[in-house]
Amino acid sequence: MQITDVRAVQPHCEGSPPDWRTSLGQILVAVDTDCGVTGYGVGGGGAAGIHVVRSVLRDLLLGTELEPARGLGDLDVLWERMYSATLPFGQKGLAIMALSGVDLALWDLWGKALRRPVFGLLGSPRTLRVPAYATVWDDVRPARDAGFQAVKLHLAGVRGPQDRARIAASVAGARKLLGPQCALMLDAWMQWDVETTLAVADDVAATNIEWIEEPLPADDHAGYRALRDRSPVAIAGGEHEFTDRGFSPLIQQRLHTVLQPDITWCGGMTALRRIYRMAHDAQLRVCPHRGAEIWSLHALVTLDLQPLAEQGRPWMQWIPGQPAIIDGYVEVPEDVHGFGVRIDESRLKTIA
Ligand SMILES: [Mg+2]
Repeated sequence: MQITDVRAVQPHCEGSPPDWRTSLGQILVAVDTDCGVTGYGVGGGGAAGIHVVRSVLRDLLLGTELEPARGLGDLDVLWERMYSATLPFGQKGLAIMALSGVDLALWDLWGKALRRPVFGLLGSPRTLRVPAYATVWDDVRPARDAGFQAVKLHLAGVRGPQDRARIAASVAGARKLLGPQCALMLDAWMQWDVETTLAVADDVAATNIEWIEEPLPADDHAGYRALRDRSPVAIAGGEHEFTDRGFSPLIQQRLHTVLQPDITWCGGMTALRRIYRMAHDAQLRVCPHRGAEIWSLHALVTLDLQPLAEQGRPWMQWIPGQPAIIDGYVEVPEDVHGFGVRIDESRLKTIA
């Protein structure tokens, strides 16, 4: 099986971000082969990511012979080739987001060629049904009423110690509405500092908070070391970190108790699998960003010892085959080849 083309577009959908900023301008990558099978993956980077695919990764992969029956080793080899080719302008950020889409398309191709689901390529699934958590920007009641047993309160926009009382009130209000049993997490989206985080952690520690997510910028390792040593609440992070190289120091220094790689940004399934391995060895938890979306879900059911899937983003409806969250659970489709997405390219509206 030989690669005949590598294509990328940015699909348009109601409510989708207009471009790549905040990283959620997701691109669809297709890898075509001479036996008529096409693998699909999703990456990030919008028009910039598409440019990386078209001008660098496509040239690198065109004409490559694929032999999925030989095992998964070739996927690692192809990943390293793409990583090396993007080193001068890559390593983190847009180039790796683009690479992620190509890697996922290759995994989809592997599954289709071997007529197996991706989760089956990764090993024996521990479960097919995973509890999900809702990410909420304001009112937690719709999530509670939809049956979620875990809710994350997004507190981005709360910038400093002056907002401490407001945060504490908002957490107390959410806990009251959700009741004592529901897991509750907080997400600061890199907007706080060490002082604010420790103050908030002290305030909410008695409220039974599972984790405080990304309180600091992703590269503030010194700050995360301070939180590791002093925060009474677990610190989660990694949503804006990239590849096994990027996660390695986070894991070695135990800077996060919960690691949150996004499979469509961090380097695809190949990178996520390596991150899971390192995290397991260090006995740290992985809870992928947007884990209920189909790409991560295949990893969650097989690689995760304590799976919890974050609900996906509502504007990704252009991916048919995406399982719905029902009564707080999401189930990976069993009888699929690859990821189980059924893309109809003739019906895609694109913005890039
Ligand atoms: Mg987050």
